[in-house]
Amino acid sequence: MNRGKEFAELISITRKFLEQERDRGIKEFMQHWEEKKAESGTLDDLARSIKDCQKCKLGRTRANLVFGVGNPKARLMFVGEGPGFDEDRLGIPFVGKAGQLLTKIIESIKLTKEEVYISNIVKCHPLRNPTHPEMRGNDRPPTQDEIAQCLPILFKQIGIIEPKIICTLGSPATKALLNLSEGIGKLRGKFYDFYPPYGKFGEPIKVIPTYHPAYLLRDPTRKREVWEDMKKIKKAMTSISPH
Ligand code: URA
Repeated sequence: MNRGKEFAELISITRKFLEQERDRGIKEFMQHWEEKKAESGTLDDLARSIKDCQKCKLGRTRANLVFGVGNPKARLMFVGEGPGFDEDRLGIPFVGKAGQLLTKIIESIKLTKEEVYISNIVKCHPLRNPTHPEMRGNDRPPTQDEIAQCLPILFKQIGIIEPKIICTLGSPATKALLNLSEGIGKLRGKFYDFYPPYGKFGEPIKVIPTYHPAYLLRDPTRKREVWEDMKKIKKAMTSISPH
């Protein structure tokens, strides 16, 4: 091959390489752009974008995806484990017996359910026996995989709402957010810094774990501790700036 031909071939290879890199760059840029757009949308946009979610098997048996409820500008957010039977039927979190107790807990610090935002770490009802979704008492905790698939939705909700305080209800919600290994009995009642992956960059949100209301229904002697935790939330809320 003479030098002229060699040179032409080199140019052609270089050109193909550069075109490929350009195309990849554009694709990556567009992906990044789409993600950023999703992050800065509203809760309604986010809810619409996940309404047909089938990322895990819970999507196949749900009656409704249970996205979240409350004030989209809430300063206080509650995060539970996952919908149960009643929540799945209605598509609203915490409407069953545990939910009624959560309403009382919220009201104990002179707030209403409408003033806070309530959601879960997984948005669909985890069933022990998936062949009988119509059966009551057929609940189980979400698996690690289900939590991992669903958690980005909660993170995006947090990014949009930008609450000042998050109260995690029970161990699975606390572990999912804070990644700490101690039990809820050890973790509850203290504030931890959570750096949300979406929303205000570098600004930690205060997370305070407490017992799950379903646990309080089984062991009412724990209510006193939850009452103490709520008082801490109330106090912290008076000292933080409004939105
Ligand atoms: N328990 C939860 O953790 N979340 C609900 O929505 C209902 C019960």
